[in-house]
Amino acid sequence: MSYRVPVADIAFALKQGAGMDEALGSGLYGDLSSDDIDAVLAEAGRFATDVIAPLNRVGDQFGTPFKNGTVTMPPGWTEAYRDWAAAGWNGLAAPAQWGGQGLPRALNAACIEMWNAASMAFGIGPVLTMAGIDALALHGDETLKKAFLPKLISGEWMGTMQLTEPQAGSDVGALRARAERAGDGTYRIFGQKIFITYGEHGMTDNIIHFVLARLPDAPPGTKGISLFLVPKFLLDDDGKPGKRNDVRAHSVEHKMGIHGSPTCTMVYGDEGGAVGYLIGKEHAGMACMFTMMNEARLAVGLQGVAIAERAMQQALHYARERKQGRSDAPGGPSSVAIVEHADVRRMLFTMRALTQAARAICYATAVALDRSHLDKDQSAARTARDRAALLTPVAKAFSTDIGIEVASLGVQVHGGMGYIEETGAAQHYRDARIAAIYEGTNGIQAIDLVTRKVPLNDGATVKAFIAELRAITERVQAINDAAFGATALRLTQSIDALERATQWLLARLSSDTRTALAGATPYLRLFGNAAGGALLANEALAAIRLGAGNSADRIATTRFFAENIAVQSAGLEMTVTEAAESVTAAPLPDEAA
Ligand SMILES: Cc1cc2nc3c(=O)[nH]c(=O)nc-3n(C[C@H](O)[C@H](O)[C@H](O)COP(=O)(O)OP(=O)(O)OC[C@H]3O[C@@H](n4cnc5c(N)ncnc54)[C@H](O)[C@@H]3O)c2cc1C
Repeated sequence: MSYRVPVADIAFALKQGAGMDEALGSGLYGDLSSDDIDAVLAEAGRFATDVIAPLNRVGDQFGTPFKNGTVTMPPGWTEAYRDWAAAGWNGLAAPAQWGGQGLPRALNAACIEMWNAASMAFGIGPVLTMAGIDALALHGDETLKKAFLPKLISGEWMGTMQLTEPQAGSDVGALRARAERAGDGTYRIFGQKIFITYGEHGMTDNIIHFVLARLPDAPPGTKGISLFLVPKFLLDDDGKPGKRNDVRAHSVEHKMGIHGSPTCTMVYGDEGGAVGYLIGKEHAGMACMFTMMNEARLAVGLQGVAIAERAMQQALHYARERKQGRSDAPGGPSSVAIVEHADVRRMLFTMRALTQAARAICYATAVALDRSHLDKDQSAARTARDRAALLTPVAKAFSTDIGIEVASLGVQVHGGMGYIEETGAAQHYRDARIAAIYEGTNGIQAIDLVTRKVPLNDGATVKAFIAELRAITERVQAINDAAFGATALRLTQSIDALERATQWLLARLSSDTRTALAGATPYLRLFGNAAGGALLANEALAAIRLGAGNSADRIATTRFFAENIAVQSAGLEMTVTEAAESVTAAPLPDEAA
């Protein structure tokens, strides 16, 4: 079954749930209107549904064969990419000064969900180009911006992001790629990068690599890393792609999923060094890269939402068609569609509730990012920046974890057919798996949350967020609507658990880091559960307030989440606060006597 963008759901989550309408009303986005947002979402929905989604299967089957240094993209992909870029989608949120449309990042986030639900392997390419645009726009000098930004923004050239080397994955500071000063203001780059997404292809007539490397006099670790822009083709006097630079793809990986995305090993400097241009200052590359990584981490979180949405749609469709067994309702018919069975309903509701909760967290992060860039009140902008920083690892890791879980449930709903490739359910599961690994593994996200984000402003940032979640559940309590069942109670208990675990962590972080780190991953999940449940409740309350036709549906999803998922928070809290010793002190399986 093909995917259809749930435009109305996305618009509601963005405008009502994440507060974009309120931000529009307060003038954060200038004279942009709610109708403008709807128009863009509808158009993006059409493109994703009609043009990209049909390419998902062919990308999976064809892959990206590599021969004589070149990659062949799957049939139809280059044309679709070029149409996509020509329609202006790549520059949606890019600076207007350089040819972008300057539209909200949050709107772009919703579109990123659509491109990636239509095809994750297609959607990840532009994510990296957009991240490169951000780094260059913020840290590049004027000459570099003038030469490269317009073409990157129009999508005529794509970008890559190059950190990883065989010995330097999560530990970026261990990288060895070498940069030498050429004496004319440019640099020469040598070394090898692995696992580079869209490192080589012919979809665009140039590829702009954003590469981390180390100068000879660099201090060790992350403090000695510099960021370089290395074009595949050097620009001629007219600014057009000319001579081939000394960088090439050595090979393309054979992967579990996202087969349509070429993942390349890149080699620099076989013929005297690839010409590179410094972005920002020497040895300050990590700061520039973080600009790319934060946006890219949110985008990868959106990939989790995207694949979950697609898997859910497919499972629901299948469960309505597939007949098996008698009804488990008393006196029901002897042959029913599996959607009638309580256990299948449980799977489908879990898929929907997790998907919508993750979407709510990602969009809230995106609106906070907009506020951090656009709010004229500097203190409000700083608060928003810290909110976005707090939520980014949760948006990335919670959403990609649930992306895998939802895609796995999607296979389960299909029974044996889910394990057979022709239904497509298996592809979603295979594709979903990478999102928990790249852009910083989810374990690294949890460490970031616990060691850097929770302590922000001495814990004031996280405490303010928890207070907001609590205010939402109090509003659910106050409207006293029986349809919510035990929602208010269960969400309050979940938030209580988050608050206690947060205090516990804050008290231990400086003195007993290893104990705190042992609980980092369950803490991130607890955070996602508490936040996701409350943000779903916020959407349900908004639907009631607006008299929206689907308010019963939103209440049902919130209630399901509160009574079936948020209740797991109590166990997660115990894992954070009580399980450290069983993690850190016990012998490993091969050490047991
Ligand atoms: C398909 C694909 C596309 C990719 N695209 C790109 C790209 O475009 N550009 C790019 O630069 N890279 C890319 N990568 C690389 C990716 O970002 C890394 O694989 C990822 O960061 C993890 O690094 P690693 O593979 O070396 O794993 P490792 O760092 O070896 O990690 C192995 C395990 O150990 C854990 N671990 C490691 N260090 C710690 C620690 N300090 N504390 C706790 N746990 C730890 C990790 O969480 C993980 O579970 C891609 C990878 C793949 C597979």
